[in-house]
Amino acid sequence: MNRFFIPKDWIDGESVSLKGETAHQIAHVLRLKPTDHILLLDNTGWEYEVEIQKVSGERVEGRAIKKAMSPGEPTLKITLFQALLKADKFEMVLQKGVELGVSAFVPFVSTRCVGKKPAENKMIRWRKIIQEAAEQSARGLLPTLQPVISFREACEVAAPPAILLWEEERSASLRRVLRNEPFRKAKSLSLLVGPEGGFPSEEVEYAESRGIAIASLGRRILRAETAGLAAVSAILYEKGELG
Ligand code: SAH
Repeated sequence: MNRFFIPKDWIDGESVSLKGETAHQIAHVLRLKPTDHILLLDNTGWEYEVEIQKVSGERVEGRAIKKAMSPGEPTLKITLFQALLKADKFEMVLQKGVELGVSAFVPFVSTRCVGKKPAENKMIRWRKIIQEAAEQSARGLLPTLQPVISFREACEVAAPPAILLWEEERSASLRRVLRNEPFRKAKSLSLLVGPEGGFPSEEVEYAESRGIAIASLGRRILRAETAGLAAVSAILYEKGELG
């Protein structure tokens, strides 16, 4: 069934009225007809199964026949702080991160970043990528994309418990860090991943001074766009949220 995130006020009791891009998609791209069913997500965690009743021009009307809490949200909320990468790589992290279960993305600039700060239209495109991935992967809440901040700001705002993945860390593995308090019982977690050029030791020291745990993903160096996705997969697997 096709899934769409919509503003909450498009559903009023049983009556559903869709407009804009969503209605256009249903009427003219997917060419759905009365009696077809769709799933609507109001971004509060509820999903509605809706029977289409009327398709006219740029409006679609329907009736909600079932309402349930969306099962697609992981119980652990991961915020992925990702250093800016080349745009196509960053887009891949957004798309795959949403599929795997990331709840929020925070792009940041660090010393060795080569990726450029995105213009406003790029941020709009990135939010669209997130929305499409969230609809496709049956998420119940739309992951957020925060404005770009500096590395230091990222260390300040990363809600604890937080982990920075460092390619030069030799002793603390991610697995070990996750088994320590306060990670074991955490309901949310911040994860910091560096750019193509990695993290210099001064940045790692700064993060440590802000109470952020440093962890390794093992002896192989992963590309920046792989590292966050690998870590998110490992964390959610560890929490019984993947597989
Ligand atoms: N250019 C660097 C590698 C950077 S990898 C070098 O050649 O050494 C980019 C980012 O991915 C790193 O900053 C880190 O956050 C993450 N990363 C990659 N491999 C990792 C590993 N084995 N352990 C922890 N983090 C890793």
